[in-house]
Amino acid sequence: MAEFTMELNDEQKEVRDWLHGFAADVIRPAAAEWDEREETPWPVIQEAAKVGIYSLDFYAQQYFDPTGLGISMAMEELFWGDAGIALSIVGTGLAAVGVLANGTEEQIGTWIPQMYGDASDVKVAAFCSSEPDAGSDVAAMRTRAVYDEAKDEWVINGTKTWATNGGIANVHVVVAVVDPELGSKGHASFIVPPNTPGLAQGQKFKKHGIRASHTAEVILDNVRVPGSCLLGGKDKLDERLARAREKAKKGGERVKNAAMATFEASRPAVGAMAVGTARAAYEVALEYATTREQFGRPIIDNQGVAFQLADMRTSIDAARLLVWRASWMAVNGKPFTAAEGSMSKLFASETAKKVTAQAIQILGGNGYTREYPVERMHRDAAIYTIFEGTSEIQRLVIARTISGTSVR
Ligand SMILES: Cc1cc2nc3c(=O)[nH]c(=O)nc-3n(C[C@H](O)[C@H](O)[C@H](O)COP(=O)(O)OP(=O)(O)OC[C@H]3O[C@@H](n4cnc5c(N)ncnc54)[C@H](O)[C@@H]3O)c2cc1C
Repeated sequence: MAEFTMELNDEQKEVRDWLHGFAADVIRPAAAEWDEREETPWPVIQEAAKVGIYSLDFYAQQYFDPTGLGISMAMEELFWGDAGIALSIVGTGLAAVGVLANGTEEQIGTWIPQMYGDASDVKVAAFCSSEPDAGSDVAAMRTRAVYDEAKDEWVINGTKTWATNGGIANVHVVVAVVDPELGSKGHASFIVPPNTPGLAQGQKFKKHGIRASHTAEVILDNVRVPGSCLLGGKDKLDERLARAREKAKKGGERVKNAAMATFEASRPAVGAMAVGTARAAYEVALEYATTREQFGRPIIDNQGVAFQLADMRTSIDAARLLVWRASWMAVNGKPFTAAEGSMSKLFASETAKKVTAQAIQILGGNGYTREYPVERMHRDAAIYTIFEGTSEIQRLVIARTISGTSVR
């Protein structure tokens, strides 16, 4: 087990500086353009692929960094550049992690390379769980996967929504109900290979922020995938379902388990994205406050402005500490006895929303225009309190975990 440390080692510092260079030189200058175009920034993803940032190797290396800080540090730097473009770069990784976590070695080897493509022909992947009537309430999912034993195929029907890269992905990972009696325990994940008939993009959403990231509905109409596309395989699924049925008979899950380890482990990464956006807006505001003069002096000479910056910096550092703690716990298998992963996501995402709004205030009229990046950062920051579990859901998980009761 790695000791918890707040000091990046030399190798991590090198990676951080390299990522920061890419974020500053390639991502940030492209941010306003792709925000306006509301399209996937393929040339930037290609650049990231060329230098090795858009690849499974890079993602996995950071993800499995024994200190736990690798992925958080990487997310912070990329999202410091721009949230919409960074999400287009890391969105595939979120789908790939679903395969890494649940897939067999063969599935990992077959599908993950097809999620990324290569630098001359980059591809993206999508993770499709949310549905129109199943957002926070994952157990209400209706997309159904039925096994056709004669053909050893799964037949998937349903409508997914809000899928990052949905419809434009080469590989879709789709969560579907295999046993409706078991609620969220009766779900399984499937690979839908490239060009599978029956999968189509529905509406593409026009969004408030992270507009360079493609978000769309995915319609699954009698989509047939081979048995080998069930992540983890049929034997493992059957065992898992049998265990869940047994537990259900005994009275279901105990509330004590409210902090689900997988979400606790993935939420700090979203917290780190929020820290990146917050830090970016804070830096712009600090620079502006030291140069903009009113009443014959820089506006930072007023406590009203300087104290805001002091609060912004304090919250950002506190958010990072929560994110790093939870990332370290996840990698080192520490039990999340107080839902520390949810805590980090909750605090960092609320911080990003607040800090970006303060940045607009400090820039005054300029902050409100698209001539300066903070209004975009503020629009982008609003996503962090919504996806990967809303702030209310994080509070619910924390409250249930610390109290051991079924708070509603
Ligand atoms: C840009 C974007 C990208 C996304 N990417 C993906 C993706 O790649 N894959 C994917 O599967 N999903 C994705 N999502 C979906 C996202 O995870 C959901 O939007 C989120 O889980 C919330 O679900 P909902 O939008 O249906 O809101 P609802 O669940 O309808 O919530 C509405 C409001 O009610 C509150 N609420 C709900 N239940 C409770 C409760 N019990 N107690 C208190 N308050 C409650 C919520 O906090 C929220 O404020 C994405 C969403 C967006 C906007």
